[in-house]
Amino acid sequence: MYWTKTLIPTLREPPAEAEILSHKLLLRAGLIRKVAGGVYTFLPLGLRALHKVEQIIREEMDRAGAIEVLMPAIQPPEIWQQSGRYETARDVLFKVKDSGNREWVLSPTAEEVITGTAAAEINSYRQLPKNFYQISVKFRDEIRPRFGLMRAREFIMKDAYSFDVSDEAATASYQKMYDAYARIFERCGLKAFPVEADTGVIGGKFSHEFMVPAETGENEVVFCEGCSYAANIEKATSGIPKTATREVGAAIEKFATPGVVTIEALNKEPYKVPANRQIKTLIYIADSKPVMVLVRGDDQLNETKFMAKTGAVAARPATVEEIVPLLGAHPGSLGAVAATLKSQDISVFADERLRGANDMTTGANEDGFHFRNVSMERDIKVTQWLDLRTVTAGEPCAKCGKPLKIRRAIEVGHVFKLGTKYSEKFNAEYLDESGARKLSVMGCYGIGVTRTLQAVIEQGNDKDGIIWPLSVAPYRVCITPLNVDPNSEAMKLAEKIYAELTARGVDVILDDRDERPGVKFKDADLVGFPIRLAIGEKSLAKGEVEIKPRGGALQSVKADTVVEAVTKLVSKS
Ligand code: ATP
Ligand code: MG
Repeated sequence: MYWTKTLIPTLREPPAEAEILSHKLLLRAGLIRKVAGGVYTFLPLGLRALHKVEQIIREEMDRAGAIEVLMPAIQPPEIWQQSGRYETARDVLFKVKDSGNREWVLSPTAEEVITGTAAAEINSYRQLPKNFYQISVKFRDEIRPRFGLMRAREFIMKDAYSFDVSDEAATASYQKMYDAYARIFERCGLKAFPVEADTGVIGGKFSHEFMVPAETGENEVVFCEGCSYAANIEKATSGIPKTATREVGAAIEKFATPGVVTIEALNKEPYKVPANRQIKTLIYIADSKPVMVLVRGDDQLNETKFMAKTGAVAARPATVEEIVPLLGAHPGSLGAVAATLKSQDISVFADERLRGANDMTTGANEDGFHFRNVSMERDIKVTQWLDLRTVTAGEPCAKCGKPLKIRRAIEVGHVFKLGTKYSEKFNAEYLDESGARKLSVMGCYGIGVTRTLQAVIEQGNDKDGIIWPLSVAPYRVCITPLNVDPNSEAMKLAEKIYAELTARGVDVILDDRDERPGVKFKDADLVGFPIRLAIGEKSLAKGEVEIKPRGGALQSVKADTVVEAVTKLVSKS
């Protein structure tokens, strides 16, 4: 490709809307342009890089035995009602109406469609296992689209769905995808690592997310350097000790705490109740019903864990207007001591760390008063003990005891063991060897293709621009003749090298713009071509051409060996 024939609108300055480096570089290097918030056009070079990521994914999916299909981007809402996700995924579903006022769902994922297909087309155990994948556009009505391709309204996803005869076979399919994902991200030049993850609204038995460490990532990952433990903070646990039990004290005792509405205030003079002897009482509206959630004063409730463990589909903190009539007091004076509850109907979920604790302090459900000598077992009717707290850095690993660390990361892929949740809903059954009807056991596997592309840039860059791995670079080689007059020696040689490299299957771009060398070099570094060849009068006089790997040292080679040298450099991956 000749530079002037394609479109590479590089920018000196990033548009103000770009917050993170990879987003700025996508725009500055002329790879994408914003059409609207979370909606982008891929310009020629961005599209080339995207196609390369897609090709790597396709090759590894095929190698793992998955088969490619293409499902529609518009889906009938009935199948979403059938799976139950019309409600549970309501927040992210984009819906459109046709001219007959019929509603459609823009595909955010495709469990519903593929399970229907499997139900119709798979009848016998002889047809299993099957793993269907597609690479296609997805739509999500994200609350906060941001960071360019990272969290978009419209994006490209690879999604795959496996169908197996048994749980055991499904685990084998899961493992194949897990291994394929590790290879895909490695081939994209990404340092991605798997972590245990929550299964969220998609449901299912267990799952892993593939994470790329990055300060700008929207996820927090808890990991241990002593063993292999790694988990999303939404799922992570630790070996932190339970609350010291202490003796069961005398009966609970009410004391006045005028104006005290925080854990910190109760910790101060004259009360001096340490946070780890306080019970934090939170009121949530979970699936439209108020519930009480108790964690220790120095702990934070993890909402994702709370929802996962209680099975709540929707949950939010209750408002003051909802709390006061329910408990007779304002937040800061709330507690779950059974004797003070107007209704014994309300569920009380308590964090495991409080189990067995005595000598605790909590609100008295009366503004300006607290109780001391509270015993969890004696005074509070706990409906369910659950692991609800958020792990913090430095806590001991539950597996090996070493201190846990926390880092930010970008989720590029997600694998789920689904079980029969969707097969049940869509009657995805097969006949086994004895002719009995059985439900297929499913798994589903997603990769954010456009997010992965941006993660490559987030991880590979320097002050001058993008540093692409060879595997994903829009072009591997950029030839820069310093004189672009068609009759000049430089241009003639540039065209000869271009033709020879192209013939060898190396993708090359020739910068034929009539620009100053400084401008051309800056652009080549900004776009980040892995290899740059400079053909100038001075070195040509010596019969030489300059080769500069992106981010590496410049070297001069004889003009007649340059094709060989470059071919060697670019076929490393
Ligand atoms: P997130 O927690 O980031 O919203 P998710 O759990 O909703 O992700 P999945 O439903 O598992 O994501 O989708 C599979 C993959 O699609 C994710 O791992 C991610 O890489 C990508 N993805 C999800 N939402 C978006 C989005 N709005 N923009 C770009 N990529 C996305
Ligand atoms: Mg999401």
